[in-house]
Amino acid sequence: MKRISISETANKAGEKVTLCGWVHTRRDHGKLIFIDLRDRSGIIQIVFTPDKKEFYETANKVRPEWVLRVAGTVSARPEKMFNNEIPTGKIELQPESVEILSEALTPPFALDTNGLEIGEENRMKYRYLDLRRDRMKNNMIMRHRVIKFFRDYLDKEGFVEIETPLLTKSTPEGARDYVVPSRLHPGEFFALPQSPQQYKQLLMVAGFEKYFQIARCFRDEDTRGDRQPEFTQLDMEMSFVEREDVMDITESLFIETVEKLFPEKKITQKPFPRLSYREAMEKYGSDKPDLRKNKTDSNELSFAWITDFPFFEPSAGSGQGKTDKGGWTFTHNPFSAPKKEHMGWLLEGKNIGEILTTQYDLALNGFEIGGGSIRNHRPEALKAVFKIMGFSDEEIEKGFGHMLRALEFGAPPHGGIAPGIDRFLMVLMNEPNIREVIAFPKTGDGRDLMMEAPSELSMGQLNELGLDIKKK
Ligand code: ASP
Repeated sequence: MKRISISETANKAGEKVTLCGWVHTRRDHGKLIFIDLRDRSGIIQIVFTPDKKEFYETANKVRPEWVLRVAGTVSARPEKMFNNEIPTGKIELQPESVEILSEALTPPFALDTNGLEIGEENRMKYRYLDLRRDRMKNNMIMRHRVIKFFRDYLDKEGFVEIETPLLTKSTPEGARDYVVPSRLHPGEFFALPQSPQQYKQLLMVAGFEKYFQIARCFRDEDTRGDRQPEFTQLDMEMSFVEREDVMDITESLFIETVEKLFPEKKITQKPFPRLSYREAMEKYGSDKPDLRKNKTDSNELSFAWITDFPFFEPSAGSGQGKTDKGGWTFTHNPFSAPKKEHMGWLLEGKNIGEILTTQYDLALNGFEIGGGSIRNHRPEALKAVFKIMGFSDEEIEKGFGHMLRALEFGAPPHGGIAPGIDRFLMVLMNEPNIREVIAFPKTGDGRDLMMEAPSELSMGQLNELGLDIKKK
């Protein structure tokens, strides 16, 4: 008989079914043994009685997390045995065959709690077990739904999803690059993208007009609760748009996503309030203010747009990947256009500290959940940005010649945005950090404890790559 999922049994009293899943709990009441069998969809109680000796003996033997296939008849529970906490609480299963598909070691921690009480090292090392808990399972399923909603929404709006390379050249977003050595070109390195920024702009030059991608980005920064070395953005770019167009479509997308998938949430203010950077700093002392009316209400969502950021800030000279060679570095993105009225200053390299960018950031409950801008689609304007940052003509050509060239071949005016999917989900799922909404995240010190990565290379691999390791 074909296996069905446990949630489907709720209305099947009297029918024969075959179920597969994990032993969630086993309760031995002397004569009766109850096993709660769990699959992705739910839990069902199976009742083993001594008269069915063979199954009873199997039930005696099994332990939590063993994997079983059980066939039997669904029966209605006596009313006083109803469990109203679960959808299958009015029925149970009388087994007619039981097969052990897999035995299990005793799990290193409880799986029937929310898991937040367990040390993270252990949870990460055994992430495949940690993901069995209800809370984590729900987070992953909601993540899937949100991403699917984004895809469907943008498809309807005429966007095309296009993948861009992971092995590429450095693209500055203000962090350090992760680099990958090239075997075929010893001594040369790819960089993993800090974002698909340059590719998406090149797709606008190519004429796609509306692009998106569920894009993995890599930034070598110190990890924080709301930051991971690799994370996922909803990366978007559009041609022939102004700032308002990008903000409007992003806003509609978020409102619909929340209203369709999280009906219990309330958005504080629609349309989202818009504040200039200066206003936000003066009023709230933050460029990602939390504007909730009731900051303790986890169902309240306060989105806000922040605009009119300074384009440049004095460079700290720290070389934090910000390509800061001169006295100035970009605050957000070197590819952004300045506000129209400041284009003259940019081209002349005048009043640098006062130039405002077309950048818009989206804040949610005190977190920055995305940002974007209208881009410089004229090569001389992009060049002017790098000049202000102290790059020589030669350095500009070497690092960004390909972008300048592309902009010389009929680039449409364009702009975009990239909301962070992990942070958005963290807020929506009321989670304390983004690791709770990522299936296999890195720990606070940037490791994957389950895979034991990063790890050393063999001498053979190092030789092939032409690499020598300096031991500290
Ligand atoms: N590339 C930017 C980022 O990753 C987003 C954008 O400007 O579209 O923050």
